[in-house]
Amino acid sequence: MTAYNCMSRQALEEEYQKVLSQYDDCKRQNLNLNIARGKPSSAQLDLVMDMLTTITDIDDCIADGVDTRNYGELSGLQCAKDYWASILGCKSNEIFVGGGSSLTLMYDVISKAFTHGLRRSERPWCKEEKIRFLCPSPGYDRHFMVTESFGCELVMVPMTVEGPNMDMVEELIQDPAVKGIWCVPKYSNPDGIIYSDETISRLANMKPAAPDFVIMWDNAYCVHEFEGDFVPFKDIITLCRDAGRPEMVFEFASTSKITFPGSGISCMASSVDNIAYMTKLMGIQMISYNKLNQIRHVRYLKDKENTLALMKRHAAILAPKFEMVTSILDREIKPLEFATWVKPKGGYFISFNTMPGTAKRALALCKEAGLTMTSAGATFPYGIDPNDSNIRIAPSLPPLNELKTAMGVFCTCLKLAALEKLLA
Ligand code: PLP
Repeated sequence: MTAYNCMSRQALEEEYQKVLSQYDDCKRQNLNLNIARGKPSSAQLDLVMDMLTTITDIDDCIADGVDTRNYGELSGLQCAKDYWASILGCKSNEIFVGGGSSLTLMYDVISKAFTHGLRRSERPWCKEEKIRFLCPSPGYDRHFMVTESFGCELVMVPMTVEGPNMDMVEELIQDPAVKGIWCVPKYSNPDGIIYSDETISRLANMKPAAPDFVIMWDNAYCVHEFEGDFVPFKDIITLCRDAGRPEMVFEFASTSKITFPGSGISCMASSVDNIAYMTKLMGIQMISYNKLNQIRHVRYLKDKENTLALMKRHAAILAPKFEMVTSILDREIKPLEFATWVKPKGGYFISFNTMPGTAKRALALCKEAGLTMTSAGATFPYGIDPNDSNIRIAPSLPPLNELKTAMGVFCTCLKLAALEKLLA
């Protein structure tokens, strides 16, 4: 195979006709495939069915002397706090245990910053003239949407292989209107990178102009290696505490990709004072979370060691899917030299950068051929990728045979979009 940019016009035209006929073949199959979102497969969900039988009688419902069937313990059962503290590496009294979605806790923090202010706020954010929020990109579309929905101005910060571009972050935080930053520090969505120790240390030691600047530290993939052993990771809560700014960070995690997405338990970690402040505000909107689910999870997952053993079983299902995606890309796309990607070792995504100016077109072609993917631009603030290049691949949900078909369609569409551009 010859790289597209080394081909003569005639060779490109011949290649175009060949790929077009492959595309027509794809369309004729009337496919209905989806690799849009990072959902665990049913084989992964089957792994954890035993969790549902950890409560069978009344005695099972008593935990730490608390009858978990009733109201109470808004900030979480002690055993659930201990569990999350062991996973994240902070202290139990820095943990607030939430319900089935960590995204809801993130939304709650931003929402309360707007309505009531955070602990260090001079006034609620809704009273500020302008709120700017840093969005390392490519990043997680739902993060960006949360801050966009409250009217924040989203400021794009480029991602590097070590995390957000910290020179830029350190300059931007001199502006008091810049109130926070979104971070997915481990197996970032979608790049799959792990922030370097230096990046983490620079983040924890920031001196932002805004007294209530907040690091939204979404550790969604904290134990989610699918290749190799667990990678130990610096705890941001401890680092911010040691740096004398314990209130600057809220960390989040959940069991969405450990047990059942939407039916798991989540947590928020921050300084003891921040947790007390948030618990008071949360107490106005609810009386307690689902503590039966907290004990189900703690009894089933037990501790970090046991959780990591379960994650190895998830990995055995996930790894072949990532392997398949990257080997097809290596075979079909790499020699053509118009795209780049990196195979991650954990998380749920592959971040794929196709020929600039062709991502939207490639995904429109995919849709027409029956393959749904995350929409182009979704990984950037306001859904606009300035290079129209980044595409997020989420290989976890379909079985291997469907994934193989999906990748065949995807490669054909990438080629077709690139050839259309080269021939235009
Ligand atoms: N954070 C990141 C980075 C994610 O990728 C996802 C889901 O894909 C979530 C949060 C959602 O987490 P939860 O199910 O706990 O709301």
